Amino acid sequence: MSLALVLSGITGYVFGIASSSPSAEAAAPTPIAMTATPEPVVSSPTPLPTDATTDAGTETEMGAEMSIGSETLAEGQSGRSENNLASGEVEVLNWVETEDPVFFITIDDGLKKSAAVRDFIAANQIPVTAFLTEYAVRNHTDYFQDVTAYGGSIQNHSMVHGAFNDPETDVQWEICETQDRFETQFGTRPWMLRPPYGAGPKDPRVLQYAEECGINRIVLWNVLVTDTNEVEYWDAPLRAGDIVLFHFVDDLEVGLEKILELGREQGLRPAPLEDYI
Ligand SMILES: [Zn+2]
Repeated sequence: MSLALVLSGITGYVFGIASSSPSAEAAAPTPIAMTATPEPVVSSPTPLPTDATTDAGTETEMGAEMSIGSETLAEGQSGRSENNLASGEVEVLNWVETEDPVFFITIDDGLKKSAAVRDFIAANQIPVTAFLTEYAVRNHTDYFQDVTAYGGSIQNHSMVHGAFNDPETDVQWEICETQDRFETQFGTRPWMLRPPYGAGPKDPRVLQYAEECGINRIVLWNVLVTDTNEVEYWDAPLRAGDIVLFHFVDDLEVGLEKILELGREQGLRPAPLEDYI
């Protein structure tokens, strides 16, 4: 199967996505800590036996208003931009080429649902693109709709956080089951995917199932704020178009405040990633 792959923003600024193979990418001595990201490890990529019964009621309840491609966004969330609708080919990117004085805040996983974080995001009206892992957010849809209600959206970060470059990982299930579950749970189908650990973004299986299941942007990052709120740049300082990765952890609001200040120092503001890709 031939997949159209458009690499966004290919310049010297782009790391391994410009390299030619998944193995080269894994070995690339790139400054960004793609493999060192302190994300939780989930041991089993197997569906839990309770999954079907857990969600059956929800699916029935919401089924009447669901359809593929429909968007019943929560108030304040962003849908696909006209640019995205016009460019349906799968792209892999880790920053955005723009002259606007903006950067992008993305938050992964969803293990912690901190009220302080929700309040900070609300108080500062921060557009958050949340790449959520389904097992971590199940039954907590209100929290994640709240934190993405300022121009952001809820996107795909797999079912149980399997590494997509691991042959043992059921990549189809990780990607496509999440699409279906999120469409049911949140009312809109994701169009962005962040592979867990940033692993295997150009793996043929990833590209195939992304395309088949409605994803056209595979989004990595070029700035990491660690779980202890240290900022790791690929190329400091913060620059226009940078995509910043956080995780839903306690004290996340400290890291958010830090990145907002670092942005102000550079004349940058956070903007919805949804408007740019
Ligand atoms: Zn993750």
